[in-house]
Amino acid sequence: MGEIGILTVSECTDGALDAISAELLGAARKLADELGQKVATVIIGSGVGDAGKDAVAYGADEVYVADDAKYANYQPEAYAAVVQQAAKDLSPAIILAGQTSIGRDLAPRVAFKLQTGLSTDCISLKLDAGRMIMSRAVYGGNAMADYVSESDPQMATVRVKSQEALAKDDSRSGDVKTIAADADIKTAFIEKVTEEVTGIKLEDADVVVCGGRGIGSEEGFEPLNELAKMLHGAVGATRPPCDNGWIASTQQIGLTGKIVSPTLYFGIALSGASQHIAGCSGAKNIVAINKDDEANIFNVAHYGVVGDYKKILPALIAKVKELG
Ligand SMILES: Cc1cc2nc3c(=O)[nH]c(=O)nc-3n(C[C@H](O)[C@H](O)[C@H](O)COP(=O)(O)OP(=O)(O)OC[C@H]3O[C@@H](n4cnc5c(N)ncnc54)[C@H](O)[C@@H]3O)c2cc1C
Repeated sequence: MGEIGILTVSECTDGALDAISAELLGAARKLADELGQKVATVIIGSGVGDAGKDAVAYGADEVYVADDAKYANYQPEAYAAVVQQAAKDLSPAIILAGQTSIGRDLAPRVAFKLQTGLSTDCISLKLDAGRMIMSRAVYGGNAMADYVSESDPQMATVRVKSQEALAKDDSRSGDVKTIAADADIKTAFIEKVTEEVTGIKLEDADVVVCGGRGIGSEEGFEPLNELAKMLHGAVGATRPPCDNGWIASTQQIGLTGKIVSPTLYFGIALSGASQHIAGCSGAKNIVAINKDDEANIFNVAHYGVVGDYKKILPALIAKVKELG
């Protein structure tokens, strides 16, 4: 096995690797195996030392850990300096970060420092003649576009849940080393505001039940909540229900809301505007319920029911109950 081909940027919560970190390593492993090269990852945080061996178990050959109290909270300049240092030390051909709150801020900074390009929110990565083809949704999820970087290293941020993590294999071997970098810090961390979530987080849910303007009221969301609870999922919404105060704005899905990639997505009484589809086009199965058979959501849905959700949803809930 040769040089480091791919560097991923891992993220941790409470000292443990986030799911996106394992997904990035899974994607990197596939590309690196094809290139005959190694995978390295950088882990930045405070009390993240134990995450190193997990990164190896998920596919990393080398892990570079920057573990310091100053990294306890995301600090753009400090984090970017560590990734830049790792890129300088390792000269990877490819750098992957997550399309997460941190990755979205960090990756462009690193790309600028390395004077290279960046493709954001990629959902598929493959190789062609040794270069990485990065695919991402465009036109609000109505089409896919492939990008190739003309500069090096080739950089991408990758959508959460778009890549398969490898099964954790604690018998894998790899090196865990430390890394340090000085940074010219110009911003100060003031406060971390943690969103209160009851139940499953929208971004993590495997089933998302999403309601649109046609739901009509806060009470209208009750059957959606019931269905989501039965399927161990989360409830989301298009922008109008959030603007109308029927549901918290944290539940908005779309261009200016959250991006979800569940296995099963219900789009109920929503038209399927491109700004909404931008947030759910990564769903593996889309079920649409709409009384207008010409609604755009039917163009992206895998299954569709034409009719009034007030009649269809109780029948669906009864069937799910019957099936246990
Ligand atoms: C810059 C920008 C950013 C935006 N970002 C977002 C975003 O992040 N997320 C987002 O969602 N939107 C976003 N929007 C708004 C977006 O353009 C649409 O206006 C919005 O998605 C429409 O929401 P909707 O489908 O719920 O409503 P509508 O388009 O009004 O559709 C309602 C649908 O409900 C159906 N319906 C009504 N009653 C029933 C019933 N009883 N049973 C079954 N079906 C019924 C109707 O047939 C209709 O198709 C953005 C817009 C802009 C300009």
